[in-house]
Amino acid sequence: MSKQPILELNNVVTCYGRIQALKGISLKVYAGEIVSIIGANGAGKSTTLMTICNITPCESGEVLYKGQPIQGKAPDLLPPMGLCQVPEGRRIFPRLSVLENLEMGAFFRKDKDEIKRDLEYVLDLFPVLRERRRQKGGTLSGGEQQMLAMARALMSRPEVLLLDEPSLGLAPLIVRQIFSIVERISKEGMTILLVEQNANLALKIASRGYVLETGKVIMEDDAASLLQNEDIKKAYLGE
Ligand code: ATP
Repeated sequence: MSKQPILELNNVVTCYGRIQALKGISLKVYAGEIVSIIGANGAGKSTTLMTICNITPCESGEVLYKGQPIQGKAPDLLPPMGLCQVPEGRRIFPRLSVLENLEMGAFFRKDKDEIKRDLEYVLDLFPVLRERRRQKGGTLSGGEQQMLAMARALMSRPEVLLLDEPSLGLAPLIVRQIFSIVERISKEGMTILLVEQNANLALKIASRGYVLETGKVIMEDDAASLLQNEDIKKAYLGE
């Protein structure tokens, strides 16, 4: 683990009108880690990711990527810098084919040969997308759309992937497949910040975790310790 975090939030406050959704969030992600953010509905998990990408700008505090402040940067400047979000609800292009969706992920890149290589890589990672490569995105199942959204993000060759609720609304078998792919890309060197309601799964694959409650970090620790913590077990792990 390197000393400087690749991504860091310091005392970030984000509001929707008068509602303070993030009340001073601080967190660190080091290169190569999977860090999971867990918490109940409305705790501010998605807002944290949207704030990092400046889709929902912060009111105060700072967001540092590789030591540089990125708050205030237009969201579309971030993927070329290596920071890419897979939003909750997937937001694939329903009228475009699977291949066209994947090409959109690489829209800012000029390295054609490398793009081709990455396309083969993501189609190997998600074989079902290869089978369905000519099908329109909107005709895919929920699980396949989640895979397409992740594969599209990977086409931007991110260094840090922000994953918002990849398990949302999916059958357990598909969720296991998706989480094993998250683990695989992590082993291959990707840094991942994962937001999940399925705290059990999220902590099992993570190195560290943050617990959010009503816009605040109430606990941070190694994922293994959080999994053993009696309060976390009762509140978030269904035990
Ligand atoms: P969930 O898992 O339900 O998405 P979450 O932990 O991701 O929960 P957020 O979606 O970040 O939580 O919401 C944090 C708070 O901000 C909640 O109180 C929510 O009602 C509020 N909020 C989120 N989006 C908006 C919005 N667009 N306008 C107003 N309030 C919002």
